[in-house]
Amino acid sequence: MRPDSNTSVPSLIDRFGRSINYLRISITDRCDFRCVYCMSENMTFLPRAQLLTLEEMLWIAQAFVELGVSKIRITGGEPLIRRGALPFMRQVGLLPGLNELVMTTNGSQLSESAVELRAAGVKRINISLDTLDPRRFREITRTGDLPRVLNGIDAAIAAGFERVKLNAVVLKNRNHEDATELAAFAVEKKIDISFIEEMPLGNIIDHDRSQSYYSSDEIRRDLNRRFMLLPVTESSGGPARYFRIAGTVTRIGFISPHSHNFCGDCNRVRLTSEGRLLLCLGNEHSVDLKRVVRSHPGNMEKLKGAIVGAMKIKPERHLFELTGQPVIFRHMNASGG
Ligand code: SAM
Ligand code: SF4
Repeated sequence: MRPDSNTSVPSLIDRFGRSINYLRISITDRCDFRCVYCMSENMTFLPRAQLLTLEEMLWIAQAFVELGVSKIRITGGEPLIRRGALPFMRQVGLLPGLNELVMTTNGSQLSESAVELRAAGVKRINISLDTLDPRRFREITRTGDLPRVLNGIDAAIAAGFERVKLNAVVLKNRNHEDATELAAFAVEKKIDISFIEEMPLGNIIDHDRSQSYYSSDEIRRDLNRRFMLLPVTESSGGPARYFRIAGTVTRIGFISPHSHNFCGDCNRVRLTSEGRLLLCLGNEHSVDLKRVVRSHPGNMEKLKGAIVGAMKIKPERHLFELTGQPVIFRHMNASGG
């Protein structure tokens, strides 16, 4: 399905002069976990017929790479539960011009698939882990099994990814006291970790997000009691601010949508599993790329035109507020976090 692709490399620039070189693809909205900050317990997932096929996703990924995107992250939902995920990633990894294929996962399937993922060309992998306490892990993920995820983390380390990073969403009075142990775990495993402030995406019933807010500065203060954090000067080009734990190889990142706005450096857009191109995680602006690929099958120029045109509606910044009703009704699993 690649008849009239062209290889000129224009770049995607939005109205605010930001260059877009990073695409996240949510290959499924489904998940084997039901994390309390991400989903409600009884989620309704999209009917399969509404999803893009993996072939359509590959076609869209190709368009982005030809438009100058050099990094693609495969995410979800839980990407590893979509049938065909591995061969799909192998094909994305082969796109000429793509420098980095990376993935975010909850780790539940990694014991079985880490080696294959590495062989498929996935360079770096982020694994979500919010606590090392099995009971709290079950409460936060509702269905997850901590030993299984820990085995998955070990499998990823053994598989030789260029970088393994943990992601922890921190909720006050839920797991904020676990941050220091998580950092010590990352040091022991010689991997990195990022702490993320919870984002108000979608309605959840588990807790009031304004009450669970725990700022990155508070986490840093807690970590400073045990570790010396040295600022890392080189920028990763993303929303995280990085520090290195003195005397270790571990970097600590802070992703702080509330306390340190990062929109000025935004370099990314997201493709949802149903084919919406989301221009910002914290706004509803989107373009229906499924309609474009289905009404003009095999027409790469039409698709590229739609993508270039979409840059005109990329918003300047997110609309996240801690109090009041969420303004974004889509959950993180449907957004491609
Ligand atoms: N299922 C995979 C996982 O959990 O890593 C990939 C998808 S998940 C939506 C991607 C990331 O988004 C995870 O690190 C998760 O912790 C984070 N996340 C989910 N809901 C969030 C929220 N409301 N605020 C901040 N981060 C969130
Ligand atoms: Fe699933 Fe990831 Fe959302 Fe947890 S954060 S429910 S693992 S998609």
